[in-house]
Amino acid sequence: MSRLRATDIKFLKGVGPKRGELLTKELGIATCHDLLCHFPSHYVDRTSIYSISSFTGDMPMVQVKGCFVNFTLQGEGAKTRLVGLFSDGERTMEVVWFRRIREIKGAYQPGRQYVLFGKPSEFNGHWSMVHPEVDSVSSAAAATGLRGVYPLTEKLRQRGVTSRTLFQYEQNLLTAFGGYITETLPTELVERLRLMPKRLAYETIHTPRNNDELQKARFRLKFEELYYLQLNILRYSRSRAYSVQGMKFPVVGRFFHAFYEQCLPFELTGAQKRVIKEIRADMLTGRQMNRLLQGDVGSGKTLVALLCMLIAVDNGAQACLMAPTEILATQHYDTIRSMAAQVGVNVKLLTGSTPKREREAIHGALVDGSLHILIGTHAVIEDNVVFRNLGFVVIDEQHRFGVAQRARLWKKNLVPPHVLVMTATPIPRTLAMTVYGDLDVSVIDELPPGRKPVNTILRYSDKRLDVYRFIAGELAKGRQVYIVYPLIKENEKVDMRSLEEGYEQVKEVFRNYKVAYVHGQLKPAEKDYQMSLFVSHQAHILVATTVIEVGVNVPNASVMVIENAERFGLSQLHQLRGRVGRGADQSYCVLMSKPQLSKDTRKRLEIMTSTTDGFLVAEADLKLRGPGDIEGTLQSGTALDMKIANLATDGRIVQLARDEAERTLEADPGLRQPRHAPLVAEMKALFAKAIDWSMIS
Ligand code: ADP
Ligand code: MG
Repeated sequence: MSRLRATDIKFLKGVGPKRGELLTKELGIATCHDLLCHFPSHYVDRTSIYSISSFTGDMPMVQVKGCFVNFTLQGEGAKTRLVGLFSDGERTMEVVWFRRIREIKGAYQPGRQYVLFGKPSEFNGHWSMVHPEVDSVSSAAAATGLRGVYPLTEKLRQRGVTSRTLFQYEQNLLTAFGGYITETLPTELVERLRLMPKRLAYETIHTPRNNDELQKARFRLKFEELYYLQLNILRYSRSRAYSVQGMKFPVVGRFFHAFYEQCLPFELTGAQKRVIKEIRADMLTGRQMNRLLQGDVGSGKTLVALLCMLIAVDNGAQACLMAPTEILATQHYDTIRSMAAQVGVNVKLLTGSTPKREREAIHGALVDGSLHILIGTHAVIEDNVVFRNLGFVVIDEQHRFGVAQRARLWKKNLVPPHVLVMTATPIPRTLAMTVYGDLDVSVIDELPPGRKPVNTILRYSDKRLDVYRFIAGELAKGRQVYIVYPLIKENEKVDMRSLEEGYEQVKEVFRNYKVAYVHGQLKPAEKDYQMSLFVSHQAHILVATTVIEVGVNVPNASVMVIENAERFGLSQLHQLRGRVGRGADQSYCVLMSKPQLSKDTRKRLEIMTSTTDGFLVAEADLKLRGPGDIEGTLQSGTALDMKIANLATDGRIVQLARDEAERTLEADPGLRQPRHAPLVAEMKALFAKAIDWSMIS
């Protein structure tokens, strides 16, 4: 394999320096190995020949056999096109080229038989094909079976690189370098799982003879990709677990007990107790904890975090909680300080807008140890924030923090602190296994008792008056209402409600109530002021953009109206819905949408109306959107550039790969056995650019 990685793509037969550069720029194909791993996105059947009379509008790429009757140049200047009249002996169609006209005209002769391969389209009862592949009959005969369609860019197409060009390059590569495709998985594994041998799998994926073999090849390559990924994740988390010393917190002492016994206004849920036990156990091992705490909005994660921080304080350590926004940090600070102050724990808030004097006082109190718990935004990871003995770190809403930022916290102490990452974005297991593969996972899967599930309703925008009437009823009962818009300002190009327009209308309709507003373009002070109006119940309605997605806690708010709900992703809708249903009253989420919805969009919104379970929502989201988007929002920092596996649909293979990677490491923790040498070499090549976890921690 190393030979393939070391060979520049320009040296492959047929490529050359110019094309080579183009392939690198457009598709990231720099070496022969990159080309080998540029897999078809789908396949088309080249076993059947269609007649023009059998064409239908929704056909994929098909083959037709016949001759060109004549060629004519049509249009002028830049719009010139070459049109070939093509007959299959029974009917005719037009074949159109917009580029490379001279070259093409010279290449094909009227009267000779060709096989065309392209997508038929119809206009005024006439069929045509634009830029089809054209084969002489003899070479077309060779191209039986399934033919891969390779991902391309527009630029490549303009320069005459087609799917067939790539197919030809792959063939050249397999002929010249096939012998260098060596097995890197352990023989025992290949045999036990009956995996297709590596070389055959590559040959098959580029030139499948039938679907059965193609599926075997795809399975092999998917498994391999996921196996290496899991192996890499597990190897580092294991080596970190064994090599990095962690703090031991043996005592559950006076702060914890005083708080638990005197200040806790309610019984912990079973899930909260279980998670605290899991974290307690980690604190006793002498290894650094890196744990992900997943729990739906409102499941009581903050309280769990606070209790764990108190244990750290009981053991003479300091704790720190980091939140992604100032609003959220402030809210955490208010809740935690009001509770912790009762038992004499010292808590302070540090954000970008903390005044200099206050900031200096905090710095001092952190160094002399008199400050027990620091809450804040990114400001807490600044280098000038130095702790006397930081033992426990909580990161709320992790998806806004990158791995590198997490790592900066670890370095704040000689012995790295325990890290608890909290997220309300439920991630399906198989995805969590990959994205957060280096973290242990705890789940709060139970809401505090007495919560009434939010009643979610879909309403078309032509029923806005009904919705306003409903809002009026809730306001009359003394409740508060959120109205969320996808846009701040009106935009002619998109047909969406804007906050500015909505704000005017809402003020007009609800004249007896005060309306506050927040959006991302407000100055922080203005945002805080508007927010505080709503939190203190001076304002009854809050019109907002998704800035309120995270964190805001106003238990008296019982209605969440989301305008143009069809424009939001499922997990976003779920987060927004989580802003209500926090008090004892029945709450409502009204999804407003335009009346005509595509099938997928309707499905998405129906998932929202049918369940309030964040995990079900996340599973459905993953299936509908594919994992790309989700990974994007997670910004995990893990290199997840999947070539063939799909985390949304290959959950079973992810699990298998995980199990096998664990088994491999069980037998050979350091991967030092000779039989694993090819494995290690392959991993080094694969993850050369990825973050070296052992260095970070
Ligand atoms: P999360 O951060 O998981 O979204 P919070 O920690 O903000 O949730 O908790 C939501 C609300 O539920 C808070 O008002 C909190 O005081 C309350 N709460 C937490 N745990 C319990 C419990 N065991 N019983 C009743 N209420 C609880
Ligand atoms: Mg929270």
